[in-house]
Amino acid sequence: MLFRSTRRLLQSPQQAVVRVDGSDVLAFCSNDYLGLAADPRLRDAACEGAARHGVGGGASHLILGHSEAHHALEEALAKFVSLPRALLFSTGYMANLGVVTALVGRGDAVFADRLNHASLNDAAQLSRAEFKRYPHGDLKSLERALAAHPARRKLVVTDAVFSMDGDIAPVPALLELCERHDAWLLLDDAHGFGVLGATGAGVLQHFGVASERIIYMATLGKAAGVFGAFVAGAPALIEWLLQRARPYVYTTATPPMLAHALLKSLEIIAAEGERRECLAQLTARLRQGCAGLPWRLMPSDTAIQPLVIGGTNAAMSVADALLERGLLVPAIRPPTVPEGTARLRISLSADHTVAQVDRLVEALHEIGARA
Ligand SMILES: *Cc1c(COP(=O)(O)O)cnc(C)c1O
Repeated sequence: MLFRSTRRLLQSPQQAVVRVDGSDVLAFCSNDYLGLAADPRLRDAACEGAARHGVGGGASHLILGHSEAHHALEEALAKFVSLPRALLFSTGYMANLGVVTALVGRGDAVFADRLNHASLNDAAQLSRAEFKRYPHGDLKSLERALAAHPARRKLVVTDAVFSMDGDIAPVPALLELCERHDAWLLLDDAHGFGVLGATGAGVLQHFGVASERIIYMATLGKAAGVFGAFVAGAPALIEWLLQRARPYVYTTATPPMLAHALLKSLEIIAAEGERRECLAQLTARLRQGCAGLPWRLMPSDTAIQPLVIGGTNAAMSVADALLERGLLVPAIRPPTVPEGTARLRISLSADHTVAQVDRLVEALHEIGARA
């Protein structure tokens, strides 16, 4: 199980210190990497958007739901990630379903990293294309599979930042393989958009790569602090998705007030580089602080910092001991992660302070000394 099967009740906005089930805890479990989810400027922009556009989307985009706020956001997103055109989807889950099922079908093949997000796996299954998974980051194995497969249309799909390990996919090498084997490359940048790259434009900016083969997907409910997702790429690709992606065509447009709020979020992401610097500093501080613990952090440069404990019970008891100290860090167990690698998935946010990260580090040392 990825999460406990019972739900915790969140009684405050999403932020570093949250009220949960009646107590205040310091949380290291959100995807709100830039600390924007509760930003008053986004709240005000959402209210302004509601005043201007109303609340409900009212219809699907192809009927009468495509408001000027959605349109302006698509143009701003395309510009921000330096791709020709962008298309909004309601969620990242739906965007992945939409892209994969619109591009491949029976007789085609999807090649997927074994640690990809569930939505990419579900998308591949739904497409009816042959579904080939390669071991995490194993480009040799991917290359063999691409070379051996007779399919006319091949699609390689990968998380850009892996959500359980925090490592970044080797995008330039993947792109090279796709070029050599005439395959498309779908990058799911849910955890990189807003965070990676000099202006937060994501994994493409981080590596400085561009190609017509790349289909770029990012979500807007994580670092961007709001809700939704988009796909960006070549104009013909976007036009095809607009006509064919079923989770785009057959669903109601998201509330335009959210698109209006997202325009503000994009401005903040681009303008406030100090949020990314802060995140990098907190990440470095956590990594230094965890030296000398009986457990090791996985080699991650992102805000996702998994601390491998080993056994499931051991991981649960460290998480419980942290919670007794008012610190909420989720334990991730098999089968979500391989046997023997149960871990605490620490995720940092620019909303955390150095003192808060130090508090986590001290608690881990205290608990580690007794383990
Ligand atoms: C969160 C996530 C998604 C789903 O995005 P939503 O907008 O929450 O539906 C897709 N892919 C990855 C890698 C994610 O982490």
